[in-house]
Parts: sequence; C-alpha cells; structure tokens
Amino acid sequence: MFDTLSDRLTSVLANLRGKGKLTDADIDATAREIRIALLEADVALPVVRAFISQVKERAKGAEVSQALNPAQQVIKIVNEELIAILGGETRRLNLAKTPPTVIMLAGLQGSGKTTLAGKLAMWLKKQGHAPLLVACDLQRPNAVTQLQVVGERAGVPTFAPEPGNGVGDPVDVARRSIDEARRAQHDVVVVDTAGRLGVDEELMRQAADIRDAVQPDETLFVVDAMIGQDAVTTAEAFRDGVGFNGVVLTKLDGDARGGAALSVRHVTGQPILFASNGEKLEDFDVFHPDRMASRILG
Ligand code: GDP
Repeated sequence: MFDTLSDRLTSVLANLRGKGKLTDADIDATAREIRIALLEADVALPVVRAFISQVKERAKGAEVSQALNPAQQVIKIVNEELIAILGGETRRLNLAKTPPTVIMLAGLQGSGKTTLAGKLAMWLKKQGHAPLLVACDLQRPNAVTQLQVVGERAGVPTFAPEPGNGVGDPVDVARRSIDEARRAQHDVVVVDTAGRLGVDEELMRQAADIRDAVQPDETLFVVDAMIGQDAVTTAEAFRDGVGFNGVVLTKLDGDARGGAALSVRHVTGQPILFASNGEKLEDFDVFHPDRMASRILG
C-alpha cells in the first residue's frame, strides 16, 4: 500500500507548527513528497513538474496558520490546486439550441466507448431526454450488436446500417442518423465510433469525417483511467486528429489512482465531464473533481 501524502508530509513537517512561514528547505522537502505521491498515482512527469512549481509558488507566500498544522496546510493547497486543475466545478453537457444535440464518442478500442454510449443514453433518458444511439463502429465485428444490446438494456433505440449491405459507410450512417433523429423526435444523438488498439491515421481520418458530417455539440474523448500516463500521448493524438471538447474517464472502479485524469486535463485543457466506474449501465456519474483529487492524493 502507498503511504498517503498526508502521512508523508506530517513526517517531513513534524516540527513546524507555529513557526511562521514555511522555509525554502521545508518547501523543497514538501515538493519531493508531493512529487512521489503524484508519480505513484501515475501522473505524467511533465505534468507533475508543472503542478509542483505552481504549488511551490503558493506555499512560499503562505503563513503557517494557527488552525492547521503545516502538513495540513500544504495538503490544503495541493488539494485546492488539484481540484482547480481537474476542472473546479463540474461542467454540464452542451445542449444544442435546435435539437438534436449531437454527442460523438472517440477513443481507443477497449477504452469503454460502447459501454459508455449505453450509460450515457440511460442517463440522458433519466434526465428526460429522448436519445438515439448511433452505431458508427463498423470495424470491429460485433460492435453494432454490442451497441444494440446496451441500447436495449438502456431502453434506447439504436440506429445502425441495415444488415446485408456489406460493412457500410460510417460517415453515411452518421449523417442519416441525424435525419432519423429529426423524424422520430430524438433530441440527443450519441454516436459511437470505431477505435483501434493503437492510434492510427485511418481511424483519425474516419473520426474526423464523421465529425465533419454531424458537427457534434460535444466530442467526448473516452479514456481508460488504467492507462495512466500513456493517456498523455493518446489524448494528444486525438486532440490533433479529431479534436474534442470534453473527456470521459472509464474503469475508475479499477485500482488506478487517477493520474490519467490530471494528465489529460493538463495536456488538453479540456474538462472531464463523466466518470465510468463499472461494467453495469448504472456505474456512471458526472465527474467530481474533488473526489478525484482525494483519490490522487491517496
Ligand atoms: P470500446 O471498444 O471502446 O467500445 O469498449 P467497450 O465498451 O467494448 O469496453 C471494453 C471492455 O471494458 C468491455 O469488457 C467492458 O465491459 C469493459 N468496461 C467498459 N467500461 C468499464 C468500466 O467503467 N469499468 C470496468 N471494470 N470495465 C469497463
């Protein structure tokens, strides 16, 4: 098990209570402990560095308070900075002025997109919307069926290419789904797209073509929290290849400490909207920056 950051800082700063300002030596010792804690949480190194220099700046000016011991005080600063970086308040979903709102999901294969599509559809339905799922992952065998299955569980219909017409063109399916949404009065369309095991150009081009065809109100990058600091390169590739304005973290029920959240947020500047934490459709919530901050700090 990891020591919590709180334990570590308590031992580093044990003798400081009531001594006025933190000295540079105290701050350096503190920074080392924060660095270890963040690396253990699998935050990418450049992100750790940027974060620590920010915390150091704040710690330098801080008076040692009467109410909190120095360790608690540093933890408070670290926690506040983490929450700020992770997005402060949770951002709500952008809804189109003229329906349907289009939400497109992009990410690596296995990141949990199809499962998320079902979760999001069920959540939207509970919020009083009438969503339509759209199957644009025509690469992976069974992806369409998998989406139909989660759609049935969520009680939401799925728009998919007609069987027997070959693989089908995902861009065409995406385009036609918008007409179908208007016809059948669905106010939100959730588009599942193909993902490969690694980032590849063809995948990016296809996702960008779908994006151009449906002009999403939200393009959500879906990322498995278990991939830790690899999230940085993946996020950069999707940012450059497709672009996105929101992030969904999946598999938070695993033992990942959450470094991916901080890394993706820091590198792309885009907010994390939702958290997926299990295989069942109910295992889903809006993202809470404060909970993630506690998880990262251990
Ligand atoms: P896709 O390839 O991006 O569409 O990913 P899938 O939705 O097919 O998910 C890949 C695997 O991860 C499946 O076995 C899912 O059941 C599982 N999965 C998806 N989301 C979660 C999650 O939040 N927690 C856990 N433990 N498993 C998940």
